[in-house]
Amino acid sequence: MATPAILERYVAAMVLSGVGDAMGYKNGSWETCHSGIAIHQEAEELGGIEKLEIKLPNWMVSDDTVLHLATAEAYMDTKDTKDKETLYKHIAEKYKEGMRNMSGRAPGPTTMNSCHMLKPAREKGYEIPFNPRGGGCGAAMRAMCIGLRYPKPDQLSDLIADSIESGRMTHHHPTGFLGGLAAALFTSYAIQNKPVWQWGLGLMDTLPLARKYIQERGHAVNENLKEWGYFENAWKNYLETRNITSGKTRPKFPSEYGIKERDKFYKSVSFSGCGGASGHDAPMIAYDAMLGSGDSWIEICKRGILHSGDNDSTGVMAGCWFGAMYGFLGVPNNHHKKLEYRKRLEKAGEKLYKMTHSGKEQQSSSISCQTEGHDKTETCSDSNQQIPLASHDQKMSETLSK
Ligand SMILES: [Mg+2]
Repeated sequence: MATPAILERYVAAMVLSGVGDAMGYKNGSWETCHSGIAIHQEAEELGGIEKLEIKLPNWMVSDDTVLHLATAEAYMDTKDTKDKETLYKHIAEKYKEGMRNMSGRAPGPTTMNSCHMLKPAREKGYEIPFNPRGGGCGAAMRAMCIGLRYPKPDQLSDLIADSIESGRMTHHHPTGFLGGLAAALFTSYAIQNKPVWQWGLGLMDTLPLARKYIQERGHAVNENLKEWGYFENAWKNYLETRNITSGKTRPKFPSEYGIKERDKFYKSVSFSGCGGASGHDAPMIAYDAMLGSGDSWIEICKRGILHSGDNDSTGVMAGCWFGAMYGFLGVPNNHHKKLEYRKRLEKAGEKLYKMTHSGKEQQSSSISCQTEGHDKTETCSDSNQQIPLASHDQKMSETLSK
């Protein structure tokens, strides 16, 4: 199999995140559809998944992509991302700006209310109070590009800090912002070529570091620690269900795991009946799709996008991780060439790649790549790498997400 260069994977990660969002959203009609079977039937009537023409006016991107671009463009405009105050202020500005481009894109009330509270011009104006109802997936859906900015294992502390702080600008609840951490972390794992079945263990190993960050940062520590357990337990249970707790075994799926069974499972891991609406289950469902799809884009569409529940938010993540791992492998041109904001997404991928893979950073650290089936770790160069074969606070979720 030809292996796409890392640059192509950066571009594909950004572009296919938008495709996953637009395909799941379908101008609002599939995002709110309660039946995966009905969605698949409609896709068939439109000529089949492969033939879908993802472009305006019928397939606009939703709030997920607008705010994912906001995160990416904040990094692109910030010279020194080690200067956290400036970076976070800039991210907050971009989120507020993004909210002015939400007509027809179904933004969630938590994000809208929180963005209203952000005051980027003031000192620490990017911080908002703890929110007992802030567990929706709005922080997770826009955080994947943080993993493109920090793709290397030795950049983990930046990835943790930025995903938590950008996440709690709108979703100040661990179930919400830890979803952002998972979305960013898994993107970095995809770029590292870490075998997919080991990502879950990586997340579990990272959670204590995130907890330590919260304690050291000193903002709403007690409230966050009190609510910490839900996300961690949900993931622990999921990894046990798939038999990948140790990171050493391949995932186990039920013998019957079609559209209906997946809908039922996604619902069962949700907070209150809407699969993908919260910070813990949106990355979980996208991860489940990655585990079961190998390098098949169409299978990712079936499992990670075309299901009942909050499918634009699972789609935005599944699309991103697929692109970060496999580039545009097997993706029909009609899915991505005419996508709304195609150019902006492409540019964001290119710029994030340049920020991370050129100059000083490239010399000081390299991406360690793990090849499938081996513990062996090796260093990747850009074009000669081993690849494994292979609502946001959504209206529905608001009542359910704490
Ligand atoms: Mg959306």
